[in-house]
Amino acid sequence: MNKVAIVTGGSRGIGAAISIALKNAGYSVAANYAGNDEAAQKFKAETGIPVYKWSVADYDACAAGIGRVEADLGPVSVLVNNAGITRDAMFHKMTRDQWKEVLDTNLSGVFNMTHPLWGGMRDRKFGRVITISSINGQKGQTGQVNYSASKAGDIGFTKALAQEGARAGITVNVICPGYIATDMVMAVPEKVRESIIAQIPTGRLGEPQEIARCVVFLASEDAGFITGSTLTANGGQYIT
Ligand code: NDP
Repeated sequence: MNKVAIVTGGSRGIGAAISIALKNAGYSVAANYAGNDEAAQKFKAETGIPVYKWSVADYDACAAGIGRVEADLGPVSVLVNNAGITRDAMFHKMTRDQWKEVLDTNLSGVFNMTHPLWGGMRDRKFGRVITISSINGQKGQTGQVNYSASKAGDIGFTKALAQEGARAGITVNVICPGYIATDMVMAVPEKVRESIIAQIPTGRLGEPQEIARCVVFLASEDAGFITGSTLTANGGQYIT
């Protein structure tokens, strides 16, 4: 099996942990990122994992970026759709730009990355598509109508595409993390963070490595009978 993986948003936060865990599991990993060159170059220097810059919100850029990765590393067998953003606002104050940016990145970005890779995975009769959704796509969250809609969309995308990929040896799964200690969560005011932690039965935030280990499992041949599933990893905060 050709073990090449792309991780979108793979140079920071949860994505960085996923890139490193896949590398340690024997994959050739390409870490995509959007604009933070400094973080990406630091990540590359520290890990030896090559980084590739393009926006998942741009279909043509995704197709071109995938072409570059495949020319460098070979055909991609594992896609981790991890890139995601928030543009929080109460709905009555939410702008059309805030809605569009989040949907373009978190939901259309998943289409834009998966679609150009799908034909090759079908031809090779093997593939793994793993998307990082969110607890807030499952339960909804005040101030995050855009984000919750995009992340719920990722779950529907996964359930439908899993049915199309099954006979071609492609599994499609989604992970819904709860609150994980990354820049995204550490950026919220400390008081808010404390109130979030108080709602988590385990009494702590998750670690990026805990999500990365879920990805490594779903990417493995051992997980071949698991498709269309939603794996929640949230410390018991929301039990479906
Ligand atoms: P971070 O903000 O720490 O990192 C986000 C990453 O996504 C960065 O590498 C960023 O690139 C990249 N990115 C953003 N927009 C684009 C784009 N248009 N194209 C390509 N890459 C892009 O996020 P987290 O690690 O916290 O989150 C990772 C994923 O997990 C997201 O999908 C998020 O919604 C989800 N999640 C996170 C939770 C948490 O508690 N942290 C909880 C539940 C889900 P760059 O470095 O260039 O900015």
